Amino acid sequence: MLGFELSEPATLDEAFDLLADGDPGVRPMGGGTALMLMMKAQIFKPERLVSLRNVGGCFDGLRIDADQSHIRIGGMTTFAEIERSPMVLQHLPAVVRTMKTLANIRVRHVASVGGNLAHADPHLDLPPVWMAHAASIRIVSKSGERVIPVEDLFAGYYETTLGDGELIGEVIVPVRPEWTSTYVKVTTRSAHDWPALGIAVSANLQGQRVNDLRLVLSAALDRPTRLDAAENELRGSDLSEAALKRAGEAAVAEADIHSDSRGSAAYKQHLLRVHLSRAMHSLAGA
Ligand SMILES: Cc1cc2nc3c(=O)[nH]c(=O)nc-3n(C[C@H](O)[C@H](O)[C@H](O)COP(=O)(O)OP(=O)(O)OC[C@H]3O[C@@H](n4cnc5c(N)ncnc54)[C@H](O)[C@@H]3O)c2cc1C
Repeated sequence: MLGFELSEPATLDEAFDLLADGDPGVRPMGGGTALMLMMKAQIFKPERLVSLRNVGGCFDGLRIDADQSHIRIGGMTTFAEIERSPMVLQHLPAVVRTMKTLANIRVRHVASVGGNLAHADPHLDLPPVWMAHAASIRIVSKSGERVIPVEDLFAGYYETTLGDGELIGEVIVPVRPEWTSTYVKVTTRSAHDWPALGIAVSANLQGQRVNDLRLVLSAALDRPTRLDAAENELRGSDLSEAALKRAGEAAVAEADIHSDSRGSAAYKQHLLRVHLSRAMHSLAGA
């Protein structure tokens, strides 16, 4: 690995100044777990990394709004902090369950929520879970801030819609007590491999009736993607085998699934039909 400068600004303004020149060799750093792998492989050769560890403000901590309507997770919050938070466990249990098979404890202690989203690897476990929960992100820059739904962050394979000098400050997740959620990580080579596909589902159910839902597919395509047609097959229906079959076929028709070393497109389409149905059954039984 080549030499580089590591800056650790104490304020956000200082961080913006250090990042401002638009130089591709200068990057923000969250936990550094993805950056270090890219640097070791010499895919990325930085001149300077700007750590966001000490910038504070919305980047830090985990809190719930006074009216209990939203949970706010700072961009520098580590996965281990989320995993151990009684508040997240109470309101977003599927997020805590997702952590159990995400990387390993060493990575979870340093990897950050903001870095994870900005990395935009379609195989990552958390982005589809945030999308199923209808989460948004606060993007901050020297010229101001904007809030967008998580799904609007992803532009393609490892590509985001973040502009130069824009940082992910926090993730904002609505608290929806009447919804239940799950994430299914389907691996085809070993339990700890990257997923061949990930399916995240949040649903508002009344017995077997689906009042509303959000279905997200990841890993098998270039970015985590809402399955609108499959959602439409299930919204307002009972969870009958016929409705689930229609939803599975709609999902396969609308998702541009890729073949890769974890399976052919046809195999992953079959996995999608099977695991979508199982995920809905598991929520209805929850
Ligand atoms: C051994 C290993 C196993 C793993 N297994 C899994 C797994 O099973 N499931 C899974 O989902 N992931 C897994 N990962 C990937 C891991 O989740 C990511 O590496 C991690 O989430 C990236 O977060 P980070 O904070 O370390 O990002 P960094 O490496 O710091 O940054 C990643 C990218 O985001 C940019 N960036 C960082 N912070 C911000 C910010 N706040 N705003 C804007 N841009 C920012 C950086 O410039 C860089 O481009 C694994 C990683 C390793 C090393």
